[in-house]
Amino acid sequence: MQYKGDIVFEGYVTESVLVYDEQKRPRRLSVSKDKNEYDRFLSARISAIKTFDQLYATTLKTMSEKEANLFQTYKIMAEDSDFEDLVRSNINDKQTAEDAVTNASKQLADTFSALNDEYMKQRAADVIEVGNTIVDILSGNNQLVNLTKPTILLCNDLSASILMQINRKYLKGLVLVKGNINSHVSIFARTIELPTIANLDNSFALSNAVNGKRAILDGIKGRLIIDPTEEEVKEYGKLAKQYDEEVTSLKKFVGKPSVTKDGVKLNLYANIASALEIENVLKNDGEGVGLFRSEFVYLASKTFPTEEFQFNYYREVLEEMKDKQVVIRTFDIGADKKVEYFDLRSEINPALGFRSIRICRKRPEVFRTQLRALYRASVFGKLSIMIPMIVSVEEVDFVFDLIKKVKAELTKEGVPFKDKIPVGIMIETPAAALISDVLAKKVDFFSIGTNDLSQYTLACDRLNPDLNMTFDNKHPAILRLIQMTVENAHKAGIPCSMCGELGRDPSILPFLAAIHLDEISCSSAYILKTRKALAQIDTKKVDVNSYTNPK
Ligand code: PEP
Ligand code: MG
Repeated sequence: MQYKGDIVFEGYVTESVLVYDEQKRPRRLSVSKDKNEYDRFLSARISAIKTFDQLYATTLKTMSEKEANLFQTYKIMAEDSDFEDLVRSNINDKQTAEDAVTNASKQLADTFSALNDEYMKQRAADVIEVGNTIVDILSGNNQLVNLTKPTILLCNDLSASILMQINRKYLKGLVLVKGNINSHVSIFARTIELPTIANLDNSFALSNAVNGKRAILDGIKGRLIIDPTEEEVKEYGKLAKQYDEEVTSLKKFVGKPSVTKDGVKLNLYANIASALEIENVLKNDGEGVGLFRSEFVYLASKTFPTEEFQFNYYREVLEEMKDKQVVIRTFDIGADKKVEYFDLRSEINPALGFRSIRICRKRPEVFRTQLRALYRASVFGKLSIMIPMIVSVEEVDFVFDLIKKVKAELTKEGVPFKDKIPVGIMIETPAAALISDVLAKKVDFFSIGTNDLSQYTLACDRLNPDLNMTFDNKHPAILRLIQMTVENAHKAGIPCSMCGELGRDPSILPFLAAIHLDEISCSSAYILKTRKALAQIDTKKVDVNSYTNPK
């Protein structure tokens, strides 16, 4: 059986499956007679602290101090006397140690979430994590940590801390059946370069029936094949070997320029959704960040992130990227990226609804907070600001008016900021592409979002897997809009980038180079591959019309 999912990190794996269902993990139903529940808690807590110490040490070796510090925080939380007091009082109320710990961590998380302090709010998820680790130890549910053979792990979702506890020597692939490609665990999976897919199609339901079965995880096409035929296993074995050789050979492109054979330059930048991904951007020699999807800062928060919190976050991203360009896209919330505290009405056609710049115009105070944070952070690096989902000149004028007000406020307050940050827009609607000649005179750069441009041009929901055949982002209509946009940008003397998924498709690269697109921004794992493909292209030999005319 074959199932489709979203790609989190590429690679091919053929191994046996371990099903891990967090919902079904064993829980004690009544208070133990033989051992005092409080003693059970204390000894599980000692083990958890040891685990956090080990995780700190391994993460420090394999990643950086920043990631490792998460486990120091967990350790401090596990040792905290308030946490211990809550567990004790829950046990006095006749709860099992497992329930007492679960409830204590929830109580503390609620307290943290209610505080008017961004740092403490972020700690709510951490204390839940600490509770889960102790409960896992109490219920003997650390089968994952003790993997003894190469495994593809199948679960609905997973916490980042459990992932980091699993022996990487045996964990070969990960399937997050209900996971999201931008969750914390997905970000960690990319950081440790673990082939992973997420969000499997609805025909797959997690069940113990597949436990121990052989499976193929195809992280290139985003497929899970359970019980493959011998032929499929052989075929995938060959693909895996080729893939490994290809990845190794790409290292020689680090430090090389991103140019075609005939010298046409096309900068290669990275798309990110979190500061944690910067390490990979630098490792893969990204020349900058071409799209930081800032809505993930909002998605990770339980309430509106404050100006101070956002300022610190953007500053960190800019400082880590040093003198390299960072394009931060203002929040693109709405459609499939709903945030509860925005309190958005449910819609019949969310993709055509109240989204990004449309929210900004109706709720300028929310947008203003983000713009203030961005301008304040601008002095710490090379920032550009990008506005998504533009369809009209009025929207662009609104943005520049608000920016003018924000700058005036900051000047009055004596807050330092860079006055001349490039401000650009995404061209991801047919309307924007069609009036790109006018828009180009108003902004500093364009970036083409082919994911939405394809969705809106083809009248085809980008999230509906039944429409995969129709969702052709290389359709001549889309390529014509792209060509028109690049030409209009250049006529007005501004650069044009592409940050949608089409940019990393090697089959379209000759066309993009030949029309002189200035930059491609893609997941960092694709940067060196694209640089290699670019070096083989001679733009003089590319027939642009053959791409823009239907066959
Ligand atoms: C796009 O639409 O191509 C794009 C890059 O934005 P997102 O995928 O975040 O909508
Ligand atoms: Mg988009």
